[in-house]
Amino acid sequence: MKTALSRLWPPTVATVCAALITARLTEYRVPLELLFCTGLAVFAAVADLLAPLASRTRTYSCPTCPLTVQVTNVAATEEARLRELATDHTAHTTRS
Ligand SMILES: [Zn+2]
Repeated sequence: MKTALSRLWPPTVATVCAALITARLTEYRVPLELLFCTGLAVFAAVADLLAPLASRTRTYSCPTCPLTVQVTNVAATEEARLRELATDHTAHTTRS
């Protein structure tokens, strides 16, 4: 079971990356405003890259029709049932 703490690791990793990059740039006498912008950009990029990995939302799609099922915060058995429903159902609609 995921806790709220487990969803905090992407911003934590992003903060560490931004701090490390910013610390390295201080060795080159980069102006303070550029350090701030660089740190902020690194934080945003890394946090955005890692956020889907911590997401509790899963999407399953039917391979032959546009049906998709998106599940969030469900038990493993219920998720398996919904995944099976999305991938193996009889009432396929046509793509338009
Ligand atoms: Zn279908």
